[in-house]
Amino acid sequence: MTDTHTSTALVLFSGGQDSATCLAWALDRFARVETIGFAYGQRHAVELDSRAKLVDGMKAIKPDWAGKIGDSHTLDIPTLSAISETALTRDVAIEMGEDGLPNTFVPGRNLVFLTFAAALAYRRGITDIVGGMCETDYSGYPDCRDDTIKALNGALSLGMAKDFKLHTPLMWLDKAATWGLADQLGGEALTDLIREHSHTCYLGERGALHDWGYGCGKCPACELRAKGWQEFKATAV
Ligand code: ZN
Repeated sequence: MTDTHTSTALVLFSGGQDSATCLAWALDRFARVETIGFAYGQRHAVELDSRAKLVDGMKAIKPDWAGKIGDSHTLDIPTLSAISETALTRDVAIEMGEDGLPNTFVPGRNLVFLTFAAALAYRRGITDIVGGMCETDYSGYPDCRDDTIKALNGALSLGMAKDFKLHTPLMWLDKAATWGLADQLGGEALTDLIREHSHTCYLGERGALHDWGYGCGKCPACELRAKGWQEFKATAV
């Protein structure tokens, strides 16, 4: 068992709502936290720009957190878009495919991300890796499932001869509960920060600020985010 009070975690941090909540979760538990983001030719490079604003915002929320945030890494993996025909990497409309998955699905994306994260973690002497994968309120991506993550955890630990621990604090939370977790960790200051500066919209839109944040309001990611925010507000006292 890792003693989270003395160890460092590496958080997969895209700048979206889920990964921002994971970053706060890790800052609350670990002695030091590093982040890793990936550039793979996605249409919404704006998500990556959100990262700096979210990190600065979290530093301002709790001095304790400010002292814990370490290096921020960005890895370029353009190969992922070269082999993917998806709505996230090409200029096509979002629709459902014959396999029942939306065409926003980038095959194997989380497997690739977690493998690169583990390779970087290995180099940096880190064994705790945190990701926002979730199979509760999700688009059915098979690489977000708990079984997938557990299997990959085993494969990475075996393949690198390291005792990795993949943490997925959002796995069993719906989007309303994810807002609730952010509220628990950093109160309104954190939910406001995430609302304003995290980016989830598949179309990369940041025109109008809705009560749930920026986005087109129509793509599946915006719909999930808006629904979660409304449910969170309805139950919050
Ligand atoms: Zn959208």
